[in-house]
Amino acid sequence: MASGSSSPFSRSRSRSIPSSPPLVKCFHDEITPLRAVKFHGPIRGKRFYGCPYWPRMCGYFKWEDEVDEVKELQFMLFEKDTTISEWQYEKECLEESVKKLKEKNSKLEDDVNELALENAVKFESMESVKADKKLVFAMLLSWIFFAVVLLIK
Ligand SMILES: [Zn+2]
Repeated sequence: MASGSSSPFSRSRSRSIPSSPPLVKCFHDEITPLRAVKFHGPIRGKRFYGCPYWPRMCGYFKWEDEVDEVKELQFMLFEKDTTISEWQYEKECLEESVKKLKEKNSKLEDDVNELALENAVKFESMESVKADKKLVFAMLLSWIFFAVVLLIK
């Protein structure tokens, strides 16, 4: 397996992977150096992590490709975590904009109510102006009527 580029999880991500050379630690917390199989045979040259005290004091042993698999899994887990937190972030953003829209909406409602109230007041005052005019007109009519009555006499 080619490392890195073949992983389906590395595409379109600009974020850097926390990719220090894998620190493989053995059972007694010793950093195990990468070694190669020295004895003759089909696996000669195959690389592995082994405790410096292996095999006498510590039985820790891991093939390099196994560690790569572990790394891959850890990376996938990391990606998953990141995706989840991205989703959470997006969700929070959406909730925030919903909240803002709601606020805006209620403000608009307030404005509409205010406008309606204002209009009602205006309408009322217009009505009262009309009523005043009617009253003046009626008074004028009665004066004219009075004058006409006086003239006829
Ligand atoms: Zn060890």
